[in-house]
Amino acid sequence: MKNRVLVVEDDEDNSGLVRFLLERAGYAVLVGRDGHKGLELARQELPDLILMDLSLPGIDGWTAGRELKEDPKTSHIPLLALTAHTLPGDRKRTLESGFDGYISKPINVESFARDITKSLENKKKTTDQSSE
Ligand SMILES: [Mg+2]
Repeated sequence: MKNRVLVVEDDEDNSGLVRFLLERAGYAVLVGRDGHKGLELARQELPDLILMDLSLPGIDGWTAGRELKEDPKTSHIPLLALTAHTLPGDRKRTLESGFDGYISKPINVESFARDITKSLENKKKTTDQSSE
């Protein structure tokens, strides 16, 4: 079965590009256009990985990310920020909100799918170790 990635992003150009790159790499993609929809899809679908924009209408990405990490149903899902906020302070705030890492915008089309795959593999490794 394909790994499923939830993309929470209000910018259509960007979510379109992300969808294209992920589908090309063999992932199934779900898209939520705002923070509320993102939370709803995450809880309903329990995807394998979540990519979350930070500046979102409704609930912002930091708040939505924190909620997902505080909920035992979704806390195990790798959560990456999709963000142009790459000043050191923003990075700190993102990690403090519980994000496992981030992907910088503009998207690097060369490395994007590889970075996602790496995050999924790291997660798998950690899970396998803890279940031994
Ligand atoms: Mg945005």
